[in-house]
Amino acid sequence: LAPYTTLKVGGEARWFVRANNVDDVASAHRWCAAQGLPLTVLGAGSNVVVADDVADGLILHMAAQGFHIADKEDQCIAEAAAGIPWTTVVDALVQRGFAGVECLAGIPGSVGGTPIQNIGAYGQEIANVIERVVTFDRSKGRVAELGPEECGFGYRMSRFRSDRTGRFIVCGVSYRLRLGLPTVTYPDVDRELETVGISSPTVADVRRAVLAIRKQKGMVTNPEDPNTRSVGSFFVNPVVTGREHARLQALFGIMPATAQPNGYIKLSAAWLIERSGFERGFRTGSVGLSTKHPLAIVTLDGATACDVVDLAVRIKRRVSKLFDVSLRAEPIFVGFGPNEDVEYLRQTY
Ligand SMILES: Cc1cc2nc3c(=O)[nH]c(=O)nc-3n(C[C@H](O)[C@H](O)[C@H](O)COP(=O)(O)OP(=O)(O)OC[C@H]3O[C@@H](n4cnc5c(N)ncnc54)[C@H](O)[C@@H]3O)c2cc1C
Repeated sequence: LAPYTTLKVGGEARWFVRANNVDDVASAHRWCAAQGLPLTVLGAGSNVVVADDVADGLILHMAAQGFHIADKEDQCIAEAAAGIPWTTVVDALVQRGFAGVECLAGIPGSVGGTPIQNIGAYGQEIANVIERVVTFDRSKGRVAELGPEECGFGYRMSRFRSDRTGRFIVCGVSYRLRLGLPTVTYPDVDRELETVGISSPTVADVRRAVLAIRKQKGMVTNPEDPNTRSVGSFFVNPVVTGREHARLQALFGIMPATAQPNGYIKLSAAWLIERSGFERGFRTGSVGLSTKHPLAIVTLDGATACDVVDLAVRIKRRVSKLFDVSLRAEPIFVGFGPNEDVEYLRQTY
């Protein structure tokens, strides 16, 4: 499965099927139910760590195609099948001047992957533009459409991600957007726009700025850049209480932190990792950290999923020991079966 992932690690699937439409999904579901086998969906493989010895079961590679934008006055509904690359959708919407996803430009992955962890970057989250998620509900054996309020969206979270039974297979997503001004809330984006001399940016300007920043950080997939052989950020930024933040500041001084609307504080996982002694460019055997971003674990030739997990565990343990803050791994671990290290990486506390 390694070629189907951006980390380029992972063993052989016992069973593998490519799903081009809902009927293929339904057949795969029925076959697994009859055989008593688990089914795991793989999109573009940009947020998974696939085990070296994949546990038994069927891997369903979601490849459904189809993309359509219907616009009326200042609004549009974009309907995309799960196998369409997310960047195709962003680029088409931005080109037409629709606002709401310009900061999500350059995020690798498929449309089907967008609601799973509620993708987000530079002040935007996909939850804010999702109109409908068309799923195959495995518990009922039929298609079910979910509105955003039924998706349980949170920070890099959704009901699709938190439900480990794999109940819903995303077959397509509809997004609702309006013509309008771009979101510019991140200092990085501000600075990049200033560098190129733009004071009243359009959505296209912001998309370009975001892509430039992501390129500098190795956060776009690029076969020429070994820093992008990753899942992007390996850990999500920890969100702590104000009291916890005050404790940390008393011990370690001022640290990067962003106040959240609910009163909690989001810390920088990248800062915690670097302060724990894992600097960008760190190497151990065939794995290491990106030279451009300490949050990205990267693989070299010969790396195994086990090497990736070992390094992630080392980082999490060190951050926990030093700061008493627990990092949660962002990618999904596929095919590991019961595994203590993987359980540890999934835990927040
Ligand atoms: C360089 C780089 C930068 C990144 N930057 C960001 C970023 O800025 N923000 C961000 O949020 N993410 C980022 N990511 C992570 C990743 O791109 C997103 O999470 C993406 O949405 C994953 O989509 P995918 O199709 O690759 O999913 P996969 O990696 O194939 O799968 C991820 C999970 O989603 C499930 N899944 C996928 N498709 C479906 C489906 N159709 N139905 C049901 N379940 C499904 C899988 O079973 C798995 O559990 C980055 C990754 C890389 C490599």
